[in-house]
Amino acid sequence: MIIALAGNQNSGKTTLFNQLTGSNQHVGNFPGVTVEQKIGALISYSDVSIVDLPGIYSLSPYTSEEIVTRDYLVKQRPDAILNIVDATNIERSLYLTLQLIELQIPMVLALNMMDEVYANNGSIDSFALSNSLGIPAVPISAAKKQGLDELAETVLNAATKKTPPQRIDFCSGAVHRAIHAISHTIEDHADLCGLPARFAATKLVEGDELMLAALGLSDNERHMIDHIVSEMETEMDTDRESAMADMRYQFIEEACKISVVKPHKSKEYLLSAKIDSVLTHKIFAIPAFLAIMVVMFTLTFGGIGAALSRLMLIGVDALIEIVGNALVLNGYNQVVCSLIVDGILSGVGAVVSFLPIIVTLFFFMSILEDMGYMARVAFIMDKPLKSIGLSGRSFVPMLIGFGCTVPAIMSARTIPSEKDRKMTILLTPFMSCSAKIPIYSIFCAAFFSKMQGLAMGCLYIIGIVLAVLAGTAMKKVAFKGMPGPFVMELPNYRFPSPKSVLLLLWDKAKDFLHRAFTVIFLATIIIWFLQSFDSRFNYVVDSSNSILAGIGKNLAYFFTPLGLFDWRIATSLITGFTAKETILSTLGVLSGVSAAELPNALAGMFTPLSAFSFLVFVLLYTPCAATVATVKREYGSWTGAAFTMGFQTGFAWFAAMLAYQIGSIFV
Ligand code: GDP
Ligand code: MG
Repeated sequence: MIIALAGNQNSGKTTLFNQLTGSNQHVGNFPGVTVEQKIGALISYSDVSIVDLPGIYSLSPYTSEEIVTRDYLVKQRPDAILNIVDATNIERSLYLTLQLIELQIPMVLALNMMDEVYANNGSIDSFALSNSLGIPAVPISAAKKQGLDELAETVLNAATKKTPPQRIDFCSGAVHRAIHAISHTIEDHADLCGLPARFAATKLVEGDELMLAALGLSDNERHMIDHIVSEMETEMDTDRESAMADMRYQFIEEACKISVVKPHKSKEYLLSAKIDSVLTHKIFAIPAFLAIMVVMFTLTFGGIGAALSRLMLIGVDALIEIVGNALVLNGYNQVVCSLIVDGILSGVGAVVSFLPIIVTLFFFMSILEDMGYMARVAFIMDKPLKSIGLSGRSFVPMLIGFGCTVPAIMSARTIPSEKDRKMTILLTPFMSCSAKIPIYSIFCAAFFSKMQGLAMGCLYIIGIVLAVLAGTAMKKVAFKGMPGPFVMELPNYRFPSPKSVLLLLWDKAKDFLHRAFTVIFLATIIIWFLQSFDSRFNYVVDSSNSILAGIGKNLAYFFTPLGLFDWRIATSLITGFTAKETILSTLGVLSGVSAAELPNALAGMFTPLSAFSFLVFVLLYTPCAATVATVKREYGSWTGAAFTMGFQTGFAWFAAMLAYQIGSIFV
């Protein structure tokens, strides 16, 4: 049995999903967090699955999430829909409810956040509301775990008995006549496609092109529908979409008049409004944002994170020494010692010692997100982003991109316009993801030690500035047109939940370690092998005679204009296509030093200028194999993914080349 969880963004779907299934999905005070459907079994009913769908406001195909959700509901036809609404803002939420009811799937309404409604002297007569809508309504509080048993029981009941919604007619007057006339006309086509006629008819009245195409109507039928709709438009004196919206809101207003006592504005809301008068202020907003970012980065890269990272490095080094000594003492073969110490331990160790920095950065980011500040940032950034032809919506993926490009690209699904989405996917990798942090830190420590924090900041900013330039250029060439409109609600500020923050930290740390011990582990072994043997598989002591050196020396020509002459550098950049951290482990393995000595070894390979051009290249070229796979999935084609990769690598090469060539004039 399958129960689909549908509702607006921020209505508490994921919170409810976690409670019902006992899982630990990420809950965000931030629209657009759930991008993929998640499935879990209902606690104590292992045969009942619950699917957490992306948050949507309507079943009209405005955004690709709405299409995903609609396709899922129409094609998979779950056994029941659990429609969750934010009871503090019920009128708006019911707009989706009315559309879901038309699908004629057994359905239950969960009135969530009742705790807040009661706390602010509101109330909802769920029986009266249930009567008006023709579906059961259960008041709950997902966060406070109230009413969940009754809700589960009601949904299971509706699903087993297959009770469809008792009422589908919410319309009156001219709209009513139009919907019914069209519904009769297309009934046979709708049956053939397995769509409820009533749902198809409403979509046609709204002018939904996808629906029109899906039904396969004859020319005559299309004309008839056009006539019916234009008759309705004349009678109602509005266009088709507003006529439908008016009809729905009118019904909702009537139903709520009987059953809802609106809560007054909550303390939280009033407090949020006060804070927002500063943080989203016309002039202070951006300086405040920059100040918050500076504090966050300084604490991460200069303070807490860096200190913890140094401790970790000492630990890793001690471990390498102990293991190395033990191997030698026990008389293990020289090749085995080299594999374990110079290969695996130095390679993986170089990466793992950055775990504290990454965890610290995510600690701050998740606190800001959980408090509700990140949603404000998207709102503040709408205007600057408009000037490069994107909307504030693109900011969410870009921001997630500072963590990891893969979920960032996935979250671009929340962007309604196709053009905005493609452009965002192309630009997101310019944001420095956390895998690049280890590389930046080591290079900045080795070459720009006097102004380490500043140098790190510059790299982040170079990425952003180049994204802006590339965006502006693309808008002129390939993605013409206005960005889509951006409407987003700002959730109330609240105290960050320790559970939510810890879960996110654990998730990120797990991800990072997982990469270190899979992709990077494997890459280290392969690189160690290629650099320890020559083409006749003899063990070589001097790695410049190895297979890898042979390959790297050929590749080095390609990087010569960038000031990167050493074959080891070229090799590390190639292995960097698998994952950015491998660059460090490759450099570590190839220079044959431990993580702590790496900065010194690098000083021999680079000049400050070539280090800079190297960093620019690293910043801009394809982040990792996982990103390429994700881009392929989102674009739906390898051509798109290959183009993205080519674009990024070409752009990176060109930018690094300019940096080096222009730099050499001055240095
Ligand atoms: P989704 O976007 O629909 O998945 O919503 P989430 O589950 O991520 O929740 C959005 C926000 O609402 C989070 O900050 C939750 O902590 C909060 N929330 C969820 N359920 C309740 C509830 O019953 N009462 C209150 N006061 N807050 C809730
Ligand atoms: Mg969610």
